Amino acid sequence: MDKISSNLLYYRGRVGLREILIGLELQPGDIVATQAFTCSAVPEAILAAECRPLYIDLEDGGVNLCPDNLEARLSSDVKCIVVQHTFGIPAQIDRIVSIAAHRDIPIVEDCCHTLDSKLNSQVVGSFGKAAFYSHEWGKPIVCGVGGSLRINDENLKVKLLSRYQKFNEPGMKRSIRLRAQFAAFSLLYRPEFYWPIKRAFHALSRKGVAEGNYNDLGSEPSPEFGLRMPKTCRARLKSKLKNLVNTTQHSRQIAEIYAESLNSHSMHSVIQPQGAETTFSRFPLWTNDKQGIIGKAQRENIEVADWYATPIHPFTGNDLASIGYTFGSCPNAEAACERIVSLPVHAKTSIKQAKKIASLLH
Ligand SMILES: *Cc1c(COP(=O)(O)O)cnc(C)c1O
Repeated sequence: MDKISSNLLYYRGRVGLREILIGLELQPGDIVATQAFTCSAVPEAILAAECRPLYIDLEDGGVNLCPDNLEARLSSDVKCIVVQHTFGIPAQIDRIVSIAAHRDIPIVEDCCHTLDSKLNSQVVGSFGKAAFYSHEWGKPIVCGVGGSLRINDENLKVKLLSRYQKFNEPGMKRSIRLRAQFAAFSLLYRPEFYWPIKRAFHALSRKGVAEGNYNDLGSEPSPEFGLRMPKTCRARLKSKLKNLVNTTQHSRQIAEIYAESLNSHSMHSVIQPQGAETTFSRFPLWTNDKQGIIGKAQRENIEVADWYATPIHPFTGNDLASIGYTFGSCPNAEAACERIVSLPVHAKTSIKQAKKIASLLH
């Protein structure tokens, strides 16, 4: 992906999103539309840019933003649309682009789940003004932490480069902690250790020992919004980007195994738009028995993820309301939370593992 800006590398993907929103000259109080069935990092960035999120529902049977629901809910206060390509499946971005173009609203693509899926032969990240990527655990290119951008507007790029001068390198303590974390994960992580590692990681990040993924959304943006990507992570990004074709090939091969086995049992796959060429970050499935599947995965030590468990993961109850989500407002997204699970396709998923996972889910 030669289009990623090598001179705009941030501490996290959400930091890059906030920079894009500021660079697009959004003003305090402006509304940014984005889909429900996402993680709290997206509204965190919107709020850090002093804007307000508006949550749009999912397509029927899909995991991406519904163009009809978007069109129905647009108002003159909506100044930007963030389009997520969930699990790597391209959104109906062609339709969304035409809806937005009518009203002159800029589009930003959330490409945290894919660097190279395509719609009608056009790569994701090239449809809007800009796109952002994340390089933490669970993403297609893992560097420890990090966020990168693709910018398709020269004016915007100039503004962000100028702002980037004020960004700082992460401090020593943070860097050491991240290095240790990366080493431990690389060494220990296997799909069959998914559950114990996940539990250990959450326990350690609650104690503040590990660098977690979810910030509390207080009144002030986290200090992370002024930080660059750590140096060691930048080096990893550079070398892993060169290897992207292999990562993609592996993901497609493993997804094939799941797709074939699906034809023979009760779960079904997620819809994709016509013309999609998907590189999955994980392989999503609809199931009528999410709790049963998760329980079985834990007992059998197989990697099945349960996210997004809430419309703005991991927020529930009053916390959802505090970031502007009204329960009942996005019924398809809420149904997806109850029913979607996802299977690994990353580099550490062997063909043998994938076949085992597929057979255990029968
Ligand atoms: C991971 C992720 C983000 C945020 O990435 P960070 O690097 O954690 O800020 C945003 N959107 C989606 C869809 C993600 O999966």
